Amino acid sequence: MSNEKPPPGTDFIRQIIAEDLASGKHSTVVTRFPPEPNGYLHIGHAKSITLNFGVASEVPGGRCHLRFDDSNPETEDAEYIEAIKQDVKWLGYDWGDHLFHASDYFEELYAFAVHLIKSGKAYVCSLSEEDIRKYRGTVTKAGTGSPYRDRSVEENLDLLGRMRAGEFADGEHVLRAKIDMAASNMKMRDPLLYRIRHAPHYRTGSDWCIYPMYDFTHCLSDAMENITHSLCTLEFENNRELYDWILDNVPAPAKPRQIEFARLNLNYTVMSKRKLVELVDGGHVSGWDDPRLPTIAGLRRRGVTPEAIRDFCERIGVAKANSTVDVALFEHSIRDDLNTKTPRVMGVLDPLKLVIVNYPEDESEDFDAPYFPDDPPKMGTRKVPFGRELYIERADFMEDPPKKFFRLAPGREVRLRWAYFVTCVDVVKDEDGEVVEVHCTYDPETKGGDAPDGRRVKGTIHWVSAAHALKAEVRLYDRLFTEANPDADKDVDFVEHLNPHSMDVVSARVEPSLAQAMPGDRFQFERTGYFIADSIDHTTDKPVFNRIVPLRDSWKKIVAKGK
Ligand code: ATP
Ligand code: MG
Repeated sequence: MSNEKPPPGTDFIRQIIAEDLASGKHSTVVTRFPPEPNGYLHIGHAKSITLNFGVASEVPGGRCHLRFDDSNPETEDAEYIEAIKQDVKWLGYDWGDHLFHASDYFEELYAFAVHLIKSGKAYVCSLSEEDIRKYRGTVTKAGTGSPYRDRSVEENLDLLGRMRAGEFADGEHVLRAKIDMAASNMKMRDPLLYRIRHAPHYRTGSDWCIYPMYDFTHCLSDAMENITHSLCTLEFENNRELYDWILDNVPAPAKPRQIEFARLNLNYTVMSKRKLVELVDGGHVSGWDDPRLPTIAGLRRRGVTPEAIRDFCERIGVAKANSTVDVALFEHSIRDDLNTKTPRVMGVLDPLKLVIVNYPEDESEDFDAPYFPDDPPKMGTRKVPFGRELYIERADFMEDPPKKFFRLAPGREVRLRWAYFVTCVDVVKDEDGEVVEVHCTYDPETKGGDAPDGRRVKGTIHWVSAAHALKAEVRLYDRLFTEANPDADKDVDFVEHLNPHSMDVVSARVEPSLAQAMPGDRFQFERTGYFIADSIDHTTDKPVFNRIVPLRDSWKKIVAKGK
């Protein structure tokens, strides 16, 4: 994969749509994004959202529906509905008036089930769940017909009516399609259409105690909404035959076409909702919006922009084969977006005191530093105070450096960004021998960061004035797992691979201009990364910054090496 985005309109789904429009099969395109409200959306859903809303927006009259696929009362919740809506909007998409719920169709779906029974294509089966599985056979062995397969239409109608009326316990009966117990596609071996669940539904309350299965609900919901292209992920490939069978065997108002595409997998994270729920409920993260999670809410709090997510989805494109995308590519999209948007400031994450021994005590001066050094007019400048005592990054000093270390060391001269050249003349150590202060002299002739005699220095380091800097809590995020594929090993619980350093909290010093930062404001701290003032915990009195990504772009390196 390169850094180049695939040209728009060239993936196989857009080609199919273009053909359908050219042939007159459809005059426009109607898609849907169909989340189940049983968890928060994640970056994989963003791929589906950008695809569904994207293709619809490219065709005149096109539209994309937001449909909650809510036919499973036990795991669904109104909290998720609101979170999902917020996330789709935040990503930049608008479903307009086209907000739907599969639960709105329960009555119509029931009527379609009655239709199937009346035409001899569905029956009530009273086998136990376990027996249904046994009778189904295997990939290599045909299944056997249920002993209830030949119940009369009347008996089936009577039983389904009594199932609906609540006369039976969970699991006593199910409604099944009558298709072919020897079908090579296991999904066609008399699949379940309805099951009994005495559980209240978050929208329909106790109106129903039978609930339609996904395969029955989805195709018919698509048809009732006049969806033209029903885009779903590859694991539904085998369900397509059933999707078509149901639509062909009821008076469906439309015949949508299901097309499968590869789901997004990212390394160093997990995306299945079951696993995300486990991380949240198990207290491994602080909530659905924990900035380490691949959830949209987590990425938003982390500081990632919707533009970066959309850019990433364009870069990965839409393909027919599953693969795992390197999280470094996502980080590349994030940096690419923030690079031109975020003002640069200085913050020291691991402070080491630097004393300028020839600078007058109790004096200070201000430097005007541009927020956008490559484009100074963009946002102008801010004042950066300078004084005798500063903080620099501990890693920018070495007492006994290797040759290639171009930062500060005894006898070496560096540039303090925007300020002066300084030369290290001494160090102060504590009783453990650790350097606690670096002493330097400065050259007043180099004010602003250039030497009039043309003398050069190899390194430029960032700093803050000790007397003026603000204390800030900085949360340094790293990948949530130490393993690229945390659930590869079936014998090891994926939580065993959690990265103990996925969040390191440090006490940083930042330049005083950041006293104006509001929750949600983003910055580039020179040389250390992109940061956002935390949307929840940041206050003027107690600044809290999240690191969105460090600056180093490993993806550029991967591409440069031609890997
Ligand atoms: P999970 O497998 O993570 O539990 P799901 O597929 O059950 O998720 P849904 O709420 O049913 O989640 O998904 C809504 C839509 O988003 C579906 O059309 C699904 O195919 C799509 N989707 C889910 N995960 C991904 C992914 N990783 N990449 C692309 N599309 C996805
Ligand atoms: Mg699903």
